[in-house]
Amino acid sequence: MEKSILRLKTLKKISLLLLLLPSFAFASITVKHTPTPGGIAVFDFESSHNNPRAFYRSIPLYTQHIEGTHWQTLLGIPLMEKAGKKFITIRDFSTRTLSVEIKVPQVKRPAKQNIKLKGKDKKYVNPNAVHMDRIIKERSILGKARLFYSDKILSDRLFSRPVSGVITSPFGIKRFYNGQPRRPHTGLDYAGDTGTPIKAPAAGKVILVGNYFFNGNTIFLDHGQGLISVYIHMNKYIAKQGQKVKKGDIIGTIGQTGRTTGPHLHWGVYLNRTVINPNLLLEKTQ
Ligand code: ZN
Repeated sequence: MEKSILRLKTLKKISLLLLLLPSFAFASITVKHTPTPGGIAVFDFESSHNNPRAFYRSIPLYTQHIEGTHWQTLLGIPLMEKAGKKFITIRDFSTRTLSVEIKVPQVKRPAKQNIKLKGKDKKYVNPNAVHMDRIIKERSILGKARLFYSDKILSDRLFSRPVSGVITSPFGIKRFYNGQPRRPHTGLDYAGDTGTPIKAPAAGKVILVGNYFFNGNTIFLDHGQGLISVYIHMNKYIAKQGQKVKKGDIIGTIGQTGRTTGPHLHWGVYLNRTVINPNLLLEKTQ
């Protein structure tokens, strides 16, 4: 009798372990090596340590376990990065510190896009003193969200598209508002009607929700290890601060809040605090 109880207990333990296993047996995401500004450099390395880490200019990089002693780190390359050799440092907290060389090639100058803002929207080109106060305050809040780092990878899959509309402004394009040059485009713009649901492209956690001068209604999602996605100009936000979301959950709707000429979703993705082309993380781009 005692023996069978013991056996039952052991069986229960084993089945509990099996239930828990999928959360430990994390798959990895397959990303194409694209070492260009706004791209992702993929670097594979071996480590017998159970939690090796990689850094670029002291910033922790997204580092995933492939299998056995095989690890991989992803480096988001800044849009304004100059061509040349870059070095990643690998640390496995034992004896090793490796410097790895990545060559960023020269890229041709990006295309230009002229955007015309009329009437009251001209404030987004020449903000007054009150607006400037607001912009400066918001800059630090938004900056903190971009710097956010959590150690655990929250999703082991590539992204799905947050909406299905056509792309009206590609990533990295040089922009002019009413003839004045501004930063290159830091995401993808998808056309869509106001109220169209926006879906989380992967599991994550909401780290910022709010209304901001340029961005309008905004949500930041953390996907772990410096992989962050941002949704701006939304009509409404549905997901709440601190909420955990699954791939496909509706987080908000398309709108035209903030600096925009019509309803669309601006979708941005950050890796190691730098904007990258979201297309590089999509399972399908269409
Ligand atoms: Zn945009």
